[in-house]
Amino acid sequence: MGNCGFCGVKTGALKCRFCGKNFCNEHHAPEKHSCKGIDEFRYLMNKRGVENYGAFSTKEKTLGTFKQ
Ligand SMILES: [Zn+2]
Ligand SMILES: [Zn+2]
Repeated sequence: MGNCGFCGVKTGALKCRFCGKNFCNEHHAPEKHSCKGIDEFRYLMNKRGVENYGAFSTKEKTLGTFKQ
């Protein structure tokens, strides 16, 4: 129980698995709330050099460009 960490709407138990905050249906996706946890997650993935996450890395670059 809590409020959406992005828009403040009262929400149930939609916890982001990357940053651990609560979000409403609309902002639950990491991309929708500029998730900081997923940045760390991706960083760890890159650090490990997991090639299976190649698609993920491409998305990271896109998001990074988008943010700046
Ligand atoms: Zn929201
Ligand atoms: Zn998050």
